[in-house]
Amino acid sequence: MIALDGVTKIYPGGVAALAGVSLRVRPGELAAIVGPSGSGKSTMLHVIGTLDRPTAGTVRIDGHDVADLGDANLSALRADRIGFVFQQFHLAGGTSALDNVADGLLYTGLRQSHRRRRAAEALERVGLGSRLTHEPHELSGGEKQRVAIARAVAGQPALLLADEPTGALDSVAGAGVMNLLRELNSEGTTVVIITHDRSIADSLPRQVRMLDGHVVEDSARRRTEASA
Ligand code: ADP
Ligand code: MG
Repeated sequence: MIALDGVTKIYPGGVAALAGVSLRVRPGELAAIVGPSGSGKSTMLHVIGTLDRPTAGTVRIDGHDVADLGDANLSALRADRIGFVFQQFHLAGGTSALDNVADGLLYTGLRQSHRRRRAAEALERVGLGSRLTHEPHELSGGEKQRVAIARAVAGQPALLLADEPTGALDSVAGAGVMNLLRELNSEGTTVVIITHDRSIADSLPRQVRMLDGHVVEDSARRRTEASA
């Protein structure tokens, strides 16, 4: 699903946010990315999510070499195959939960009634069937993140990328969001989660640790070496 080879990302000013990262994530995996602030976690997620192109190295997502795709095809790949969830939800204020999710399906070209029907299904799936008309300011943090997850998965992406999805939530709401992400993974979605929370990371099947733009530890690699 994800194949990074020798990926570097150098920001203007010369910061090497990624300094030669190679990583494989297979379809159906559920992986945690951990590491201190500034270690390159968000940059790696942006590169995996095709929001950002690498400075050097190869990025293949769902069989596509990102370097072979122009911006329009890259946007189409992203819209079709990848969902994003962020710490701060990024919902549109003054807009109902239903339309926040339905507007995420604009790229599909479906008419509004169909988009809304799919949005309602996604919101029911995350347990918010009774909150369709609520606006973000009428929802708790945990509910807002569920709306964001519904928006991310309404288009049935193969890959879900989450950057500190529980970072702004209390522990009960955070646990609810994590259960939901696990459930989506068990239904087949590949899920990659950046987290600062040690107990969350340890509860996931795989941990990838970053430091100074490098992957310094990968529990999957350790297992492979142990069995070799
Ligand atoms: P993390 O998510 O692990 O905290 P980031 O990927 O956000 O790390 O950042 C890695 C490094 O790249 C940091 O030194 C950060 O300051 C730098 N960086 C991140 N985004 C930008 C940007 N848009 N422009 C310049 N430098 C950036
Ligand atoms: Mg970050």
